[in-house]
Amino acid sequence: MCLFCKIAAGEIPSTKVYEDDTILAFRDIAPQAPTHILVIPKAHIPSVDGVNPENSALVAHIFETIPAIAKAENLVNGYRVISNCGPDAGQTVPHLHFHILGGKELSIQMA
Ligand code: AMP
Ligand code: ZN
Repeated sequence: MCLFCKIAAGEIPSTKVYEDDTILAFRDIAPQAPTHILVIPKAHIPSVDGVNPENSALVAHIFETIPAIAKAENLVNGYRVISNCGPDAGQTVPHLHFHILGGKELSIQMA
């Protein structure tokens, strides 16, 4: 099982901020901003490259939930959603995840 599958299964502890039957959001262990949350499908999808018609409803559900998480975190001034896909993007955990970053004015550097 991959690291985030173990977190989803409760085998590795995490600071959860949202959970339902199919997705989980928890605080990043090495925050890059005052608020840094990861949102994952509980099912293992390796990355954005693994999104397909059979599992894309999970991605839609994640994006439908992100605004509520941002609201609960009081990110009233905005936030950023990032997914790193593959080595060139610096993906370090091979389980699809979306970073929510906020709580400060973020750098606009894209690459
Ligand atoms: P990425 O580099 O896009 O694959 O993002 C992986 C993220 O997972 C990094 O921001 C890490 O800080 C974070 N991370 C790694 N292990 C844990 C953990 N046990 N709990 C929470 N976040 C983690
Ligand atoms: Zn996994």
